[in-house]
Amino acid sequence: LLRVTDLAKRFGDREVLRDVTFEVPRGSVQVLLGPSGSGKSTLIRCLNGLETIDGGRIEFGGATVVDATGLADRHPSRRALARRARAQEDAWRPLRTRIGMVFQSYDLFPNRTVAENIRLAPLKVQHRDRDEVDADMDRLLDRVQMGDYRDAYPRELSGGQRQRVAIVRALAMRPELMLFDEITASLDPEMVRGVLEILLDLARDDMTMIVVTHEMEFARRIADTVLFLDGGVIAERAGGAEFFDHPRTDRARAFLESMA
Ligand code: ATP
Ligand code: MG
Repeated sequence: LLRVTDLAKRFGDREVLRDVTFEVPRGSVQVLLGPSGSGKSTLIRCLNGLETIDGGRIEFGGATVVDATGLADRHPSRRALARRARAQEDAWRPLRTRIGMVFQSYDLFPNRTVAENIRLAPLKVQHRDRDEVDADMDRLLDRVQMGDYRDAYPRELSGGQRQRVAIVRALAMRPELMLFDEITASLDPEMVRGVLEILLDLARDDMTMIVVTHEMEFARRIADTVLFLDGGVIAERAGGAEFFDHPRTDRARAFLESMA
C-alpha cells in the first residue's frame, strides 16, 4: 500500500532522516521504535504530507505521490524550498482523506461535541451522505465503548476517552492507512490498556497501520514488522517477536534494555 524509498529529510543543515526505505503491505502493522530524537515523529509526518521531504520517493496505492530523488542540492535557496513545499502539498492533497493520523495530544475541537467532531471531515471534506456517516459513527463509537458520549464536549471526557474519540474521528473517513504516534504517551496508566486494545482490534480487522509506541509488550503483540530507527536511519528491521528476542545490533539491545 505504501512504499518509501531512500527518503531524506533535513531541518536546515541537520539531516534527521536518511536512506529510509521500507514497505507497508496492505493489512500489515509496522511498529516504529527508536530512542527519543531518532526521527520517528518526523517520519510519520512525512508519510501524510505534514513535512516536506528532501530526497527519495513515496508511493501510495501503486502511484508515486512525491518524487524527490532528484533533489541533490544540499543548500537550496529559500525560494526553492518554498516551491518544493508547495508542490508536495499539492501532491498530498488528494490523499489526505485516505490516510488517518492520531497523535499524542488529542486535538479535538473543544467547542464541538463528540458527534460534531467526528462528522466534520466526512461531511465537509468528503461530501458523504449524512445518514451513512452517522451509521459509521455509531458503529465506531460503540466499538470503542463511547456510544453514550455522542453529545458530550471534549472537556467532559477523560484523556483516554478523548483519545478513543480521536481514533474514531480518523476512522470515520474510512482511511486505507492509519498512522499512530505515541497515542498513549500522555494518558494515565489505567487508560492506556483500553486504547491499545482498540489498536489490537483494528489489527485483527486487517487495518493497515504504522504505530509509534513506547509500550513494548503491546509492540511485540501487534507488530508484523519492527522498524528500529536510530539517528535517522533504519538500523534494524525484523519480525515482531524476532526483534525482541534476538536484536542484532548493540543499539537495539541497548534500546530494549532501556525500555525494560
Ligand atoms: P520522541 O521519541 O522524543 O518523540 P522522535 O523519534 O519522534 O522522538 P522527532 O520528533 O522525529 O524524534 O525528531 C527527530 C529530530 O528532528 C530531533 O533531533 C528533533 O530535534 C528534530 N526536529 C524535529 N522537528 C523539528 C523541527 N520542526 N525543526 C527542527 N528540528 C526538528
Ligand atoms: Mg516523537
